[in-house]
Amino acid sequence: MALLSSACRLLPAALILCLGPPQYPTAAFIDVSVLTMDQPGLLEHQTVIATDGRVVAIGPVRSMPVPSGALRISGRGRTLMPGLIDAHVHLKTADVPAYLASGILTVRNMWGHPGITRLQAEISGSRLVGPTIYSLSPGLDASPPSWPYTQFVDDAAQADSVVAAQQAAGWTTIKVYQRLSAAAFDSIVASVRRRHLLFAGHVPTAVPIQRALTVGMESIEHYTGYDRAVSRSGNQGTFGWADADTSRFGPLVEATVRSGTWNCPTMAINTMLSARQGPEAQQRVVQNRRLFTRALHEHGARLVAGTDAGIGFTAPGTSLLDELMEFVAAGFTNWEALRLATVEPGRLLRVPQLGTIAIGAPAELLLLSGNPADDLGVLRKPVGVLLHGTWIDGTALANAAQPASPP
Ligand SMILES: [Zn+2]
Repeated sequence: MALLSSACRLLPAALILCLGPPQYPTAAFIDVSVLTMDQPGLLEHQTVIATDGRVVAIGPVRSMPVPSGALRISGRGRTLMPGLIDAHVHLKTADVPAYLASGILTVRNMWGHPGITRLQAEISGSRLVGPTIYSLSPGLDASPPSWPYTQFVDDAAQADSVVAAQQAAGWTTIKVYQRLSAAAFDSIVASVRRRHLLFAGHVPTAVPIQRALTVGMESIEHYTGYDRAVSRSGNQGTFGWADADTSRFGPLVEATVRSGTWNCPTMAINTMLSARQGPEAQQRVVQNRRLFTRALHEHGARLVAGTDAGIGFTAPGTSLLDELMEFVAAGFTNWEALRLATVEPGRLLRVPQLGTIAIGAPAELLLLSGNPADDLGVLRKPVGVLLHGTWIDGTALANAAQPASPP
């Protein structure tokens, strides 16, 4: 039977709706192996207690008292890890159950709009169980628009008023996009700095990657900008990696490490989209991107895992595992790949302890049938998740994630 706090119910539309405070403000995972993600290896036979959305106690099962009235969840033979974070999504309300069913309990939404603000309010107000959402602003770009809600900066002189409007709307990270002129990009950067905001997104076609790496971009998505720098013929996007000159990787890796800029390479969707170039070119794209990713990692550059789910190519939820497998194929251990969907995006989002299990950390917890550092496959079928004080078991997660049946 689905074990949901009594205040929550499943809707026919496959959403989990909460009608009041959680039934169990305190939950205890008893005799569980803990993968804290701060350090490799498991803490065995632990009891982990979460109250009011925070981890409040971790200790050996033999000596850790469980508060009366707590929801008791058996951890025997199971592994508890921090909820996963997808660092690049375009969130839709209907996709919420799919994220939860894959253990994704925080998302970084890459293009803000009023619907996202409403969804954030519903989730943070406990009216809906869904992942914690951090969102960038709507994208700032030149005409014509690629996506709805584009904020136009066709002229560099417009930059400050457009950035000011995003700030007034509550966005703290400004999304920059592909068609901005170099002058518009520079004006946006100046405005963002004056206003103590952050900015992230695509390196516009008109801006060299070396420039983007020196102006304090928070993160670069899809390796935009690197593509043109590595391509022998200056190609962009996946095409840039098909004729990459790998001898150019070293200086780019060095500049990236020096800048402290994060990269979210969205590997799985790029592998998928590069198939359009034919099997041979696709293989070169995939190999070159993996080689570059591995070089970034070995030199200590900052990386996060993101899927670009929500634009119709990669599936919300399950594609994060595909993304982790791409990093493993690039030479990462399972543990290192898992860091890119927990601790590292927690740091990118600047949320203390997000992506770890530690006293004081957010109680966004994922219970698994085994250790994902040994076998990433255990992520396919979570035993359950604890999120915002609500425990949802694996059956309820799977049922909710079923596509709504046609009328
Ligand atoms: Zn995207």
